[in-house]
Amino acid sequence: MADELGGTSMPKGYVVAGAAGFIGSHLVEALLSQGSSVLGIDNYLTGKQENISHLVNSGNFIPINGDISFPEDACFQSARQFLGSKNFKSTYVFNFASAASPLIYQEFQIETLMAGSLGTKNLLDLATETSSRFIQASTSEIYGNPKVHPQVEEYHGDVDPIGPRSMYDEAKRFGEALVTSYVNTRNTNAGIVRIFNTYGPRMREDDGRVIPNFVSQALSNCDVTIYGDGNQTRSMCFVADLVRGIIKFGNSSFRGVLNLGNPEEITMLELAEKIIKVTGSKSKIVHLPMSPGDPERRRPDISRAKKVLSWQPEVTLSQGLDLTIPWYREQLGI
Ligand code: UDP
Repeated sequence: MADELGGTSMPKGYVVAGAAGFIGSHLVEALLSQGSSVLGIDNYLTGKQENISHLVNSGNFIPINGDISFPEDACFQSARQFLGSKNFKSTYVFNFASAASPLIYQEFQIETLMAGSLGTKNLLDLATETSSRFIQASTSEIYGNPKVHPQVEEYHGDVDPIGPRSMYDEAKRFGEALVTSYVNTRNTNAGIVRIFNTYGPRMREDDGRVIPNFVSQALSNCDVTIYGDGNQTRSMCFVADLVRGIIKFGNSSFRGVLNLGNPEEITMLELAEKIIKVTGSKSKIVHLPMSPGDPERRRPDISRAKKVLSWQPEVTLSQGLDLTIPWYREQLGI
């Protein structure tokens, strides 16, 4: 790659934790396609080898099986060497390692708390030591069952510290506090992204979240399961839009917190009807009991991301479903 002066420009170097996960693998793919080098860490609790297997031969990708919750894990030695190799124009540490599905983090409660707390600390130490820019994947779940709608970054949330989602919500809230303290006291160059509901290929069909469930059920002509009356809302962002925003955030010098998501709000009943329609399914809708702690409404206010990053989503829900459904067809062999 030649720069304006005719010399060879150096690539950027990224450590991505959670590299084999749904968002992590799309992030790694996008970074590699921009000519960056990536060391990807995953403990494969929820990540899958096949999400990144097509990237392994790219030459600029080093996948490492490791656990960020343990500072003595060999992945940190590899990451230190990678970031310190002096071959990079600038370096980054992106923390996307965590279970994110309520079904799964409720099964792996302690692991989720450790990844969000100790794992975040270990990665912050790595970024601080190597003068890398750090991006923390946080979540709209830190708003809990929000009393402010749409959710602005200034809203502090309504979370039960011992509630059914507390292991995820409080891990992520602690992560935000820790990142903020590193920025304040160690001058770490860090930002926090609050990710709202995201969907797309590679979100596991057995993940338990709404789009994998509804699409798999509709494609198999099974009952589509709505929890409660279906009037609860979410705002669904296609993964490519989210990843574009995350990379822009990394490239910026903004050290605060930003919501990233699609403000197109929809009830779960409307979503079920839409998915049945676009898949041409014969499925019927059935109502099951509401899961405890399920937020009633969620929609991001993205004014800050628009202003700071000049970012907004471009993919509508209809377009995103068209890009997603074929992947589930392939997974399910339908
Ligand atoms: N949901 C549903 N049926 C399902 C899966 C989820 O009605 O088979 C609802 C769930 O109750 C919630 C919304 O869809 O209100 C989004 O759930 P998801 O687990 O995707 O993510 P959350 O935003 O709750 O973390």
